[in-house]
Amino acid sequence: MKPDPKLPHDIEAMVEQAADQSLPFRRWPAVLQEMWRSEQAPRRRRELAFINAIALISCLLCLPLDYTNGPQIFEQGLVLRLGLVVPAYCVAIYAALRGGWVIQRWTSILPVVCYAGVAGYIGMHNGASAEGGYVMGAAMIVVLATVILPLRVASIALMAFLSVATMWAIWAALPPAAEQEAFGVLAYLSAISLVALTVPFRTATLKDRNFLYAIRGRLASERLLAANEQLRELSHRDDLTGLPNRRYFERIFDTAFHASVINGEDLAVMMIDVDRFKLFNDTHGHTAGDRALKQVAKELEKQFVTSGATVARVGGEEFVAVVEHCTEQEALSLAERARHSVAQRPVALEIGGRVSITVSIGVAMRKKVGPSTDALIDCADEALYAAKTAGRNVVRLADRVGAPGFAG
Ligand code: GH3
Ligand code: MG
Ligand code: MG
Repeated sequence: MKPDPKLPHDIEAMVEQAADQSLPFRRWPAVLQEMWRSEQAPRRRRELAFINAIALISCLLCLPLDYTNGPQIFEQGLVLRLGLVVPAYCVAIYAALRGGWVIQRWTSILPVVCYAGVAGYIGMHNGASAEGGYVMGAAMIVVLATVILPLRVASIALMAFLSVATMWAIWAALPPAAEQEAFGVLAYLSAISLVALTVPFRTATLKDRNFLYAIRGRLASERLLAANEQLRELSHRDDLTGLPNRRYFERIFDTAFHASVINGEDLAVMMIDVDRFKLFNDTHGHTAGDRALKQVAKELEKQFVTSGATVARVGGEEFVAVVEHCTEQEALSLAERARHSVAQRPVALEIGGRVSITVSIGVAMRKKVGPSTDALIDCADEALYAAKTAGRNVVRLADRVGAPGFAG
């Protein structure tokens, strides 16, 4: 698995810097802020919708309270609550569910300000005995919203400030008789709102840090998975040629063999061995031998892989190929093409000049000779032996178990 392609490549450095220097959210790189928002978005939607719905219900529940305080207060409550606060909360709920980040912020701030303002107005404007209760009710709404609204601290502070300022503005426009009592309660409300602000401030810092640690953990585990994947890939490959190794081939072969038995199609196995390679090494050196092996591997890969087959290096100068869904004729002509292609490309020596190199190939068909994977490999091996005996640089087909024929 590769690391998440959506993440920018230097995200790790950004996260490290933000976490190590305890950067406040506003100083995070924009891309990190965006990640934070998109992670928070679904939860924020749900929370905002839920909290605003609760506030809406609590606003409606204030109507009986207004009623007990007399017909004048009830009438004002009916007009202001139903005309201002309830619509504001309805818009807030709708925006929470459907709106964007900025709209959600404003539509969640404004109903609180309206709610507190209306409660403050009804209480203070009437100068009734319930005045203190109304102002305290407004205070409770502001403090509750400060603590539970899932907005960033700056928005919460703005919401608290606007709510308190609205109430002070109403107080300033009051008839003097009620001023004294409301002043004390409002001063208390202002102080308590300020204290309540420490809660979102503290939780925001903790949440931001948790977010950075979570991203850090996610990146580390992605790196680990990628490294594991790379290791697994490497453990399947032969170091010199890059072809699949014996272990990997055995797995592929096993799967292909059983699929071929189940679907009834034929399958070919080919043992391929470089001719007189010891002599090549002795004459031109081991390094040239290695280069020759790489070149042979490349030629074989070109022929087999483009035909949908798998070729692996299973020993020093020995290769094996498995070809699925093929007839005997197709297998033989593929083997012939591979043999020809190796023979056509002499190996370039470091000291100059080129030396030709050839391979012999033994082919065995499952339907003809292979009741099991081992028997099939043995037959291909015997066909290879027959190819060597026939003079090398040839393809031979195994006719039946233990007795390769001389087709090809
Ligand atoms: P034949 O045509 O019968 O296959 O003869 P051969 O010489 O190819 O067979 P033999 O098994 O006698 O020799 C194989 C040689 O392959 C011996 C060894 O030095 C060489 N060899 C095996 N692995 C490597 C390798 O990784 N690099 C190099 N350069 N040579 C290798
Ligand atoms: Mg050999
Ligand atoms: Mg050999």
